[in-house]
Amino acid sequence: MQQTPIIVWLRNDLRLEDNPALFYAAKQMCPVILLYIYSEDDQRPYPIGAAAKWWLHHSLKAFSKSIAEQLILRKGNVLDILLELAEKTKARAIFYNKRYSPHEISHDATYGKELLKKGLEFKAHDGNLLIEPSELLNQQGKPFQVYTPFYTAAMKFFDVKEPLSIPKELQFYSQNLASLSLDALDLLPKTEWTKGIQEAWNPGEEGAEKELSSFCKNNQASYAKDRDIPSVMGTSRLSPHLHFGEISIRKVYAKTWNNESYRRELYFREFAHSLLFHFPETPSKPLHARFLHFPWKKNEIFLQAWKKGLTGYPIVDAGMRELWQTGWMHNRVRMIVGSFLVKHLLISWHEGLKWFWDTLVDADLANNTFGWQWVAGCGADAAPYFRIFNPTLQGEKFDPEGLYVKKYVPELSLVPPKYIHKPWKMEASELKICGVELGKNYPHPIVDHDKARVYALDCFKKLSADSK
Ligand SMILES: Cc1cc2nc3c(=O)[nH]c(=O)nc-3n(C[C@H](O)[C@H](O)[C@H](O)COP(=O)(O)OP(=O)(O)OC[C@H]3O[C@@H](n4cnc5c(N)ncnc54)[C@H](O)[C@@H]3O)c2cc1C
Repeated sequence: MQQTPIIVWLRNDLRLEDNPALFYAAKQMCPVILLYIYSEDDQRPYPIGAAAKWWLHHSLKAFSKSIAEQLILRKGNVLDILLELAEKTKARAIFYNKRYSPHEISHDATYGKELLKKGLEFKAHDGNLLIEPSELLNQQGKPFQVYTPFYTAAMKFFDVKEPLSIPKELQFYSQNLASLSLDALDLLPKTEWTKGIQEAWNPGEEGAEKELSSFCKNNQASYAKDRDIPSVMGTSRLSPHLHFGEISIRKVYAKTWNNESYRRELYFREFAHSLLFHFPETPSKPLHARFLHFPWKKNEIFLQAWKKGLTGYPIVDAGMRELWQTGWMHNRVRMIVGSFLVKHLLISWHEGLKWFWDTLVDADLANNTFGWQWVAGCGADAAPYFRIFNPTLQGEKFDPEGLYVKKYVPELSLVPPKYIHKPWKMEASELKICGVELGKNYPHPIVDHDKARVYALDCFKKLSADSK
């Protein structure tokens, strides 16, 4: 007779290495059932976006392959599925790694209560952050709202645990268990728009491992210098792998900790998660309440131009098209397009957050909320209201030759570097030589930077004065 198994319920931790729930389940010397449940109820109120669904499909495929197709896939209500499976297999315990978004914490608490009533152990493990957000507080016992003291305290008071190894022997529960096919989860889009994403990424633990090795070998040493240059592969591109837990943050940390500049970015992820943990309403409300009444504009034409990369500002358009084509955007450009949406177009950061949520393969509630509130100036450690990125100057500074722009905005491929970030300054005859017809094959700027800046400053200044 087989021993009673342990169910390892996988969520955003699709990896074998440094997976504490899996590691400690394997240590019990009993069979394990590796389970993934696709549950729309469990995602509520933040159902995952289209690009993330694409990633999830491929990540599940890769994970299942890595364990000889032993992953059990189910779809539906989490509690019903866990109870049914536990009853059928006589499992006494369900192991999982903690999640930190407010809705996930609340769902897990409900599951725990109900499972306990049925005599089942629902055992939490820490594996998705370097520091538990409940543990790192300021001297008054309150959450940090400014990054530098958060980082300093993290460095001073916390040691990061060593990553755990892949369990040596996994004994799978051997009685036939029904599993859905991956296609039955229905994660792939009906229309084919993911070609560019497919070319750009390799979801799964092996893909993550390769990305990390390549970063450590080729880019880590020049990270501080190159991380702001979007035409260079200067960053680690680990964000979707980290979001889906295909690689452990502790492993990334262990391989890169001596690079101060990179370490600070990893701790931005910790900071964003800490903020979401302590201020659970921030995906929908600004951290600073005075922004609740900011007079955001509703302008569908501008919003569509922004989403499609047709604003007439080349660096903004390149970023928005990189996002659409690859499901990812360089961090510097995320800041530029974000600032353009909220400060030049005065469109609410919620619209930006929603679009990113649907189109980013690394869409992450904590990081996305933090990024958008930072850009809008209404969050922790936010950009001051008077910092309004000039998209032309930002382009000239970070993409001086226009290589990034030319890659994603091919209409401008013949424009010389001098004008690549301001094609509207060229004479009509020069534009013609470059094959550009403003208003025909590339738009005029949809707003004038100087006027938009003055107007935005006025709105933001009024807000500051009103709240005094
Ligand atoms: C408006 C806006 C929205 C954003 N939305 C997301 C999002 O949904 N998901 C997401 O993962 N990141 C988001 N970011 C943060 C950042 O842009 C990405 O994490 C980064 O570009 C990912 O690329 P990388 O892995 O090559 O980063 P690297 O520079 O190699 O950094 C390594 C890791 O550190 C973390 N990190 C780096 N910068 C940040 C940051 N500013 N905030 C939080 N974590 C950070 C990420 O996990 C990243 O993978 C957003 C930023 C802005 C300005």
